[in-house]
Amino acid sequence: MKKDDCIFCKIANGEIPSSTLYEDADFRVVLDIGPATKGHALILPKEHFENLYELDDAVASKALVLAKKMACRMKEVLHCTGFNLVQNNGAAAGQTVMHFHMHLIPRYDDNALPLWKPQELNPEDAAALVSLIRQP
Ligand code: 5GP
Ligand code: ZN
Repeated sequence: MKKDDCIFCKIANGEIPSSTLYEDADFRVVLDIGPATKGHALILPKEHFENLYELDDAVASKALVLAKKMACRMKEVLHCTGFNLVQNNGAAAGQTVMHFHMHLIPRYDDNALPLWKPQELNPEDAAALVSLIRQP
């Protein structure tokens, strides 16, 4: 299903023109209009899912296979020396467009783009988190 007021639904389905790097029945891959690095692109499912929690399992599987394909292509043609696959869910995580997407971010030795600042994990917190989160 598409969502009428969703810009990524319109881009993914070709209703708004975009710099398209790949398209198939389920996805469109486009250049990000505010790139973090040269080649920064977005994988957009053609169907509307707001975020990872809502994503269809079959689409989720295909999305990672496509991310791998695009990463290999970018490595080959852009000669990037690293690669970040980033996916934000919710405003607190930096999601600004509420249509599931994956960021393909080629990295080069000459740029520094720290994604987070590591903090300390003490053993008590680790044990509490394991008992809270561990998937049965
Ligand atoms: P988020 O912060 O939601 O994970 O990422 C949204 C991304 O979409 C941002 O990197 C932003 O630059 C990009 N973006 C927002 N609007 C458009 C658009 O109309 N076209 C394209 N190609 N990218 C967009
Ligand atoms: Zn949408």
